[in-house]
Amino acid sequence: MNLILFGPPAAGKGTQAKRLVEHRQMVQLSTGDMLRAAIASGSELGKRVEGILARGDLVSDEIVIELIENRLPEAEAAGGAIFDGFPRTLAQAEALDIMLKGRGKQIDLVIRLKVDDAALIERIAGRFAESGRPDDNPESFKVRLAAYNDQTKPLLPYYENLGKLVDVDGMGSIEQVSAAIDRALKERCGV
Ligand code: ADP
Repeated sequence: MNLILFGPPAAGKGTQAKRLVEHRQMVQLSTGDMLRAAIASGSELGKRVEGILARGDLVSDEIVIELIENRLPEAEAAGGAIFDGFPRTLAQAEALDIMLKGRGKQIDLVIRLKVDDAALIERIAGRFAESGRPDDNPESFKVRLAAYNDQTKPLLPYYENLGKLVDVDGMGSIEQVSAAIDRALKERCGV
């Protein structure tokens, strides 16, 4: 099974992906985590993307598509992938479909965590202080939210048209959101 966790920055995608990994035979594929690991390692790629992440802009489609492609065999061997923070553009979504199709696989469900803007801003205000992420500051967060609204939100009709989109209320506690995701998986995928 291959899932996409979809939603704005700070919606709780990473938290829910980690919980799904604990409970199901799946691997979390977070392009944000991969890019931060590249930066921490001091690699050529890390140096190229460091400023982009700090500003809150999106890195190029080519870079993230390649990161994901490299990890697909491992995810497949584990039983499936939870895509977290990918795809973020239509080009990424189309590339993902093609890569999976080439392996005889597909996206089974796109779980959209719905959180309103006021709640996001409140959450992030708490996270600025403790996360240590250079992009968790008011200016970069504004850019990240704008990138989501301009480039990522347009993916919703793409997945809606494919009949793969399900909305989950992301405003409750971590446990409430997890339970809602489990209900959606049971209803839509029978698992
Ligand atoms: P969040 O969802 O909280 O914004 P992520 O960890 O998913 O955080 O992403 C952090 C940053 O990494 C993004 O702001 C962007 O610069 C970069 N990034 C992550 N995934 C992608 C992607 N699929 N396409 C382009 N840039 C990405």
